Amino acid sequence: MKRVALKVAAALAVGLIWVTPGAHADEYPGSKPVSAVVPFSAGGPTDKVARELTMIMSKHLGTQIVIENLGGAGGTIGAKKVAQARNDGYTILIHHIGMSTAPALYRNLGFDPLKDFEMVGEIADVPMVMVGNKNLPPSNFKDLLPYIKANASKLSLANAGIGSASHLCGLLFQSAIQTELTTVPYKGTAPALTDILGGQVNLICDQTTNIAGQLKAGSLKPYAAMQARRVEAFKDIPTAGEQGLPGVEVKIWHAMYAPKGTPKPVIDKLSAALQKAVADPNFRAKMAELGAEAVPAQRATPDSLRTFLAGEINKWTPVIRKAGVYAD
Ligand code: ASP
Repeated sequence: MKRVALKVAAALAVGLIWVTPGAHADEYPGSKPVSAVVPFSAGGPTDKVARELTMIMSKHLGTQIVIENLGGAGGTIGAKKVAQARNDGYTILIHHIGMSTAPALYRNLGFDPLKDFEMVGEIADVPMVMVGNKNLPPSNFKDLLPYIKANASKLSLANAGIGSASHLCGLLFQSAIQTELTTVPYKGTAPALTDILGGQVNLICDQTTNIAGQLKAGSLKPYAAMQARRVEAFKDIPTAGEQGLPGVEVKIWHAMYAPKGTPKPVIDKLSAALQKAVADPNFRAKMAELGAEAVPAQRATPDSLRTFLAGEINKWTPVIRKAGVYAD
């Protein structure tokens, strides 16, 4: 007992165990793993981006980044958990465009995307494609539109819950064709895709990161790319605009966040590792293979993300208000 006390006193005297908040940030991350919350199911589009990214980013950060899938309520459950987590740099969030649509969609969101998080940086942009079960009669988007109008009460549209990318895309699509379909929510589009392939649900507007394999294998009916230009990796899929439905355009941007108050030196380390990861040729190639595009390193920064997120909130809030959609 006496010997321990003496050792502690000696260590203190030479400043070995002198603890200050700044000292902690200097030592970050040490060998402790970082938990990255992905607010959707494992194996889905956000999970795929997150796993490819963190595999590379872990090396640059110097410690393992472990994915924690926490799906539900369009990504808002996982985001809220991170907003309330310890702000020590060992819990981060990897989320998408839902960070900018949730404030307008949820009346009791429980967090403020701009005020309750530190921004780390953007990651990648992912396009969306409207696809259907292989046995759906229409063979192209032009034929799909009248078919939907004639069969609206029998057709279902899957999504990953209110606030998800598939929800937003479905919302824009239904409002453009002025027809409502029965929507079926999942905790992510990984389980939704299983049901589309199995024919339990008819249609989904999904990210190419989830459906690239099925598009290549021809196991889904691709109807339209939901953006102004054709997707580089899937050039044979015409856009919705080319097929008579202009204006349904959505790009699913992804970004990384930490709880508010995470020390700046910690954020700087995370962001530096993120910038290296997005510039890594292996990450860029993997994203391209899935139809996506890694952001340039200058977008993988806190300042760029803060400006971008604020702009996206301003962009989507009036669109969602006009659609009159909300969740409690
Ligand atoms: N990104 C979600 C997922 O990973 C799907 C979505 O937002 O539509 O499952």
